[in-house]
Amino acid sequence: MRTSQERQAQARPQPEVACRACGSANLSVQYGKYGYYLKCADCGGNTPAKPVCAACGQPARLSKSGAEFTATCPGGHRWAYWTNPA
Ligand SMILES: [Zn+2]
Ligand SMILES: [Zn+2]
Repeated sequence: MRTSQERQAQARPQPEVACRACGSANLSVQYGKYGYYLKCADCGGNTPAKPVCAACGQPARLSKSGAEFTATCPGGHRWAYWTNPA
């Protein structure tokens, strides 16, 4: 099952989010025992969701709103970290 997300492929200020096992971006954010993580739809691997602010380099926290996850750093920067596929 493949859905086109090309229209979201505009320049993003935040670092790339990818599966640490296979490099896939076919991910969805899930919440588990150890906090948010990224579940890979290609290899089934889990990658900890550890957003880092591109503006100040500090680790950020995720908050969920529906399928959208927003990262907020201690410096007050916010950005759209990830949107889960429908
Ligand atoms: Zn993977
Ligand atoms: Zn920041």
